[in-house]
Amino acid sequence: MFNTEKLFVIHYAEVGLKGKNRVFFEKKLVRNIKLSLRGTGYAEVKRLHDRIIVHLKQDTDIAEIEKRLRQVMGIAHFELVYRTEKDMSIIKDTALQLTESKVFETLKVETKRSDKTFPLTSPEISREVGGYLIQKTGVQADMRNPNLRLWIDISHNDAYIYTDKLQGIGGLPVGVSGKVLVMLSGGIDSPVAAWQMIKRGAKAIFIHFYSYPYTDKASLEKVIELTRILSESNYRSAIYLVPFADLQQIIVTETPAPFRVLLYRRMMTRIAQRVAALVEAEAIVTGESLAQVASQTLTNLRAIEAIADIPILRPLIGDDKADIIAKAEQIGTFEVSTLPHQDCCSLFVPKHPATHASVAELDKAEEGLDIGALVETAMNGIEKQIVSFSYENGN
Ligand code: ATP
Ligand code: MG
Repeated sequence: MFNTEKLFVIHYAEVGLKGKNRVFFEKKLVRNIKLSLRGTGYAEVKRLHDRIIVHLKQDTDIAEIEKRLRQVMGIAHFELVYRTEKDMSIIKDTALQLTESKVFETLKVETKRSDKTFPLTSPEISREVGGYLIQKTGVQADMRNPNLRLWIDISHNDAYIYTDKLQGIGGLPVGVSGKVLVMLSGGIDSPVAAWQMIKRGAKAIFIHFYSYPYTDKASLEKVIELTRILSESNYRSAIYLVPFADLQQIIVTETPAPFRVLLYRRMMTRIAQRVAALVEAEAIVTGESLAQVASQTLTNLRAIEAIADIPILRPLIGDDKADIIAKAEQIGTFEVSTLPHQDCCSLFVPKHPATHASVAELDKAEEGLDIGALVETAMNGIEKQIVSFSYENGN
């Protein structure tokens, strides 16, 4: 006896996915789906050639699963599907049952048939099921602009029937693109930069520089909270907290005021590079956007970057502030980012910062500093924290 089963069918964008790559990608996606669905009481997540299936239990909270799947990076779209036997009368009854909770006046049935041995063709199946529904419910057919679309998928083993295609978030499964070290301030931009990299499949590890006791502890809590929000898509996340006050003090007393912010940035980058090597991140990510502030002119970005020997990625480089803010609101970091706080880089900022510092000028400004020792001292003061995502302790 075949029971009709409700399950989720998940699709990913397949562009360029072949052979071993594809298996790697699918396994990561399955793993991430399992992490995201912890505590929902789903029965099983399974790979099935070009799709992933989530089997449910009797008492599974379907709405909650749908809500969580919408946020999983790498899902292009998904459906809540009724799986039935490939028998026309069962298919018709299931279709009717499925449409019962829907309010609609016009209908279109669309069929895809991968099992070519099935006795009816796709148009014949659509016509027969459509005719049955029209007769039973009194609705009309509309091939162009129906209120409701019902899809039937005749696969090798079963028939799949569903009405709503649900939009996924897109992107790639977290982890398929390697690791990046994100320089996370408490501001608006860097969390958005992190999110974009996570969406492209990079696992983010975070680093934050703080100037306690010059700045208060609230800024640290803020950054941890931002990490927590990002961990909903990045999953369990590590953040490295670097004491920066002593180093800033030295820059303030030993170097010309107009270069301060740029020299803070260079020191941060040097330390970030060390941490990147430690955690095997292949790039540093920042929230910089071209010409948004004085330190972000092309000339200054170049002068900062000159000391780096791993790539510095700036996913927001071409974005307007208004667009970055809209994105921050959408991903849920804006509110936390705009809580008042003191950033270490806003300390001791000169009235007239250099807008076009050359590499040579910064090299010269740093001549009197024992850079190796300063980096070493900062490295010795680093603390690592692990930030969990909210479903981590579900089962
Ligand atoms: P954000 O909104 O991310 O703070 P911003 O536009 O305010 O960016 P800046 O403050 O100049 O720009 O910082 C540029 C980038 O440098 C940040 O996006 C972030 O990646 C990095 N950064 C700045 N301050 C810190 C910090 N205290 N710890 C870690 N990274 C930082
Ligand atoms: Mg900032």
